[in-house]
Amino acid sequence: MCGIIGYTGEGDPVMDVLMTGLSGLEYRGYDSAGVAVTDRARSSGDVSLFKREGELSSLEAALPDGSVDGAAGIGHTRWSTHGPPSDANAHPHTDCTGQVAVVHNGIIENFRELREDLESAGHDFESETDTEVVPHLIEDALAAGESPEEAFRTAVARLEGSYAVAAVVAGDETVYAARHESPLVLGVGEAGHFLASDVPAFIEYTDRVIYLDDGEFATVTPDGVSVTDARGNTIETSVETIAWDPEDAGKSGYDHYMLKEIYEQPDAIRGCLRERVAELSGSVEIPELDGISTTIPTVDARDGRPRPIQFVACGTSYHAALYGARLLRDRGVPAQCFIASEYATERVPVSEGTTVVGVTQSGETADTMRALREAGRAGAETLAVTNVVGSSAARECDHVVYIRAGPEIGVAATKTFASQQVALSMLAAALTDGGSQGLVQSLRAIPDGIQRVLDESDAREIAREYVDSDAYFFIGRGYDAPVSLEGALKMKEITYKHAEGFPAGELKHGPLALVTDRTPVFATITDHAEGDVSKTLGNVKEVEARGAPVVAVTDRRDLVEPFADHVLEVPSIGPAQTPILANVQLQLVSYWVANELGRSIDKPRNLAKSVTVE
Ligand code: GLU
Repeated sequence: MCGIIGYTGEGDPVMDVLMTGLSGLEYRGYDSAGVAVTDRARSSGDVSLFKREGELSSLEAALPDGSVDGAAGIGHTRWSTHGPPSDANAHPHTDCTGQVAVVHNGIIENFRELREDLESAGHDFESETDTEVVPHLIEDALAAGESPEEAFRTAVARLEGSYAVAAVVAGDETVYAARHESPLVLGVGEAGHFLASDVPAFIEYTDRVIYLDDGEFATVTPDGVSVTDARGNTIETSVETIAWDPEDAGKSGYDHYMLKEIYEQPDAIRGCLRERVAELSGSVEIPELDGISTTIPTVDARDGRPRPIQFVACGTSYHAALYGARLLRDRGVPAQCFIASEYATERVPVSEGTTVVGVTQSGETADTMRALREAGRAGAETLAVTNVVGSSAARECDHVVYIRAGPEIGVAATKTFASQQVALSMLAAALTDGGSQGLVQSLRAIPDGIQRVLDESDAREIAREYVDSDAYFFIGRGYDAPVSLEGALKMKEITYKHAEGFPAGELKHGPLALVTDRTPVFATITDHAEGDVSKTLGNVKEVEARGAPVVAVTDRRDLVEPFADHVLEVPSIGPAQTPILANVQLQLVSYWVANELGRSIDKPRNLAKSVTVE
């Protein structure tokens, strides 16, 4: 995820428009930024390029005094997926001649092959990004005599993966763009035209927009915009005028970042799966872990026993780690899960060959970092599972797997939890049997499954009905247990109401004393193991007997409906994956309860996004 802006026209100076645009997009990514303009003042027709690691202010400080006169320009604020934040990895990227500049949002899945081909043909690369292949592909096509527009099409035709990509070519006033599974919108202005990842980038200049669809190309010139298909046939588009409150810009029209991030989950998971699963062969491979099967053998060569894996994490990440540890245990690996702040104080034994996996959204969580450092000192191999490229966890651990959820602004984690669960599912497969067709199909079904939940959920009505309750309980067993703990944590974080989550069998060992007719029980009952559904239904009967209303979150409406006051249904997509969908229902319930109560949803009291103290 990142922000792209492009502009050409006779209105405000190009550089000013680009910088204003980037400040409207910073919420989409903020680890580095850059701009490139084709410069009409210079007869050589070079592209002027400025880019810097860090926030937009670092780029601003690097710009020359006085505006750079330019004809057309592109800008980018980055959220790294390939290569840590650095000046070299910041976009725009250029070709060998410096005549072509490109910005990109997404992941180019076949960049390794493309880069190898280009390097053996003599191209020099300056970054570690997947993006840099694009300007070099354009360079080759230009050298073969193609026009800039043809060369752009030729390059894009070689790309597999997801992209919103925009390019400028020296001596040319046009911005070329294409999209496939990453957003891109055109802005039709009075004295110039725009393209961007999202409307806030140019809302100051125009409210007239054209949304591009997957597979479409756009050329933006000072005179107008045109949209074509991959073959170059013109596509008729309609210009929409949008009502947009600049205050809400970064939220894309949602009332809160949290709700926006809940709705971003299908895309976040597509990004997480990209280039890591192969549908036909059913294989799961995590390119970042190339060679990990030799450095982290899951089986000890001496005695043939599986080697232990320990997870360390806090809060929501701890719930994802519980899920990941269970996946590994199901595959015969002795995996344990520890609360990071307890791990170090307990001095958990680390035997030779132990791998310690730190799960941390920010990659900076102090408790998790301390546990990882202790584990490293004790001789463990360490692995970070994080959302932030170049974070402390990513830098300090022996290995890293990125969850690629894009920036999460809401303090209460939502899309990063789902992406952690998916990343850990792939990790468990990559470290053991290498995956299967069934697993890959189930993982691939998650984004559409979440979309169905988002489209059809009755969570808002349930929230209205139970907003005045004394407390909320969440129960589930097996893979539903971590989801229940997470459901309760979300409810606490954003509603400030008492909520507790339990493995379903635990309720009768004490907490049942708290259950009354004013404490709804959310029972997550997905069909993952023989006998589990009926056992949890037994627990449901126990709470019903105490008068508690029951909301079942389930893919087995047929079995569960007679026992529940309400059913929040989820599609059935696989034993370990359906609970990921169930969690989305619980996120929505918490969100709507908090909304009914008028809470500060994105910034709950007393909490912070990245917990950098122990
Ligand atoms: N994959 C590209 C990179 O890592 C683009 C990331 C983005 O969408 O910001 O540079």
